[in-house]
Amino acid sequence: MRAGDGATDRGPAALVLSGQNGIAAWQEDLYRALHRHPELGNQEVETAATVARLLTGFGFDVREKIGTTGVVGILENGDGPTVLVRADMDALPMAEETGLPYASTDTATDDAGNTTPVAHACGHDVHVASLLGAARLMAAERTAWSGTFVALFQPAEELADGARRMVEGGLAGLIPKPDVALAQHVLAFPAGRVGTRHGAVLSSADSMRITVYGRGSHGSMPQLSVDPVVLASMIVIRLQQIVSREVAPGEFAVLTVGRISSGSKSNIISDRAVLELNIRTFNRGTRELALNAIKRIVTGECLASGSPKDPEFELYDRYPVTENNAGATDRVSSAFREYFGDQAFTIGRQSASEDFSEIPNALGVPYTYWGIGGTDPQLYAKAEAGGTILTDIPANHSPKFAPVITPTLQTGTAAIVVAACAWLGRSPDA
Ligand code: ZN
Ligand code: ZN
Repeated sequence: MRAGDGATDRGPAALVLSGQNGIAAWQEDLYRALHRHPELGNQEVETAATVARLLTGFGFDVREKIGTTGVVGILENGDGPTVLVRADMDALPMAEETGLPYASTDTATDDAGNTTPVAHACGHDVHVASLLGAARLMAAERTAWSGTFVALFQPAEELADGARRMVEGGLAGLIPKPDVALAQHVLAFPAGRVGTRHGAVLSSADSMRITVYGRGSHGSMPQLSVDPVVLASMIVIRLQQIVSREVAPGEFAVLTVGRISSGSKSNIISDRAVLELNIRTFNRGTRELALNAIKRIVTGECLASGSPKDPEFELYDRYPVTENNAGATDRVSSAFREYFGDQAFTIGRQSASEDFSEIPNALGVPYTYWGIGGTDPQLYAKAEAGGTILTDIPANHSPKFAPVITPTLQTGTAAIVVAACAWLGRSPDA
């Protein structure tokens, strides 16, 4: 791909993106509508319907209800590679506090049957609007590229099961096998910037529910009991030594006991305790080490307490490591440097997690995942100068997370087109 050689000799991505100004008003309205009406994971019925309607209008071949609400649009445009780009569609069960005129006031019913406010506090509405914008531009400028562009809209990233459900729903049989899979996330760094990284970019995450058993008794007769509260307390303390004493210094790992519950009353010794843990790592070895150490420590503490029944372990909300393919990342990074100039940079590893990689892993194709900025650059520069980034810049999942529309949408859209054209681009001379 070539760019910057003058208006008559521009690269294919620049040609596709020459239509960007023409769709800006439409795309911003689309974004505000998505933001105003967020939907929880596996309930993205209206969002998916909007996606399917628009893709059909652009001329894509559309498949709906994959997994739960998953949608794919396929745009065949002659010989050449197939590029899959994924956007996640779901929002979070929380109240929005951005004060934006297009803030969500919607509520939804969660899986437990509770009514909850809903907000696009992770920016998945940016992802949907960007991919739809890119899809529209790719469809409008088909002379600039050749191959097949697959736009995939995934449910339930926040529930860690949307990608898996699409795979189990027969995704592989519904699309041509891609040569590469791409995805992006809006993050709390200056809008206009794009960050790529080789190798592990997002951590794995595992949640684990552990039930340990004691023997119930009256609080005045501890000699008759095996006290699960004491047992669970010993476990919490002992688990802290996995990261400090078993994981090598410099190797990333987080182990948090986020919830612990037992008993009903001060003078009753209960017969069980439940602990809920969250574990994050950047490689499979550390992940296995931590999971095995947890089981060993819990089993050992149960034995030490004289627990009458084996502990039970249940893993849930599991996210794999997102580990970018070197070749695909090189190709995208150099295309980004060419198009975005010094706005393209190498992003640090993020201790957040994603289920996107389950799609390329199931299809057996390389992938790369990058970040785009969503924060007002002036606000960011001011916070950086004052050393107040952590307190003044709302990050993903904050009720105040509010990406600036300009230039976030333009950057998100351009990043998709530029990355896709790094495979699909046709030489302007051809
Ligand atoms: Zn999120
Ligand atoms: Zn997210």
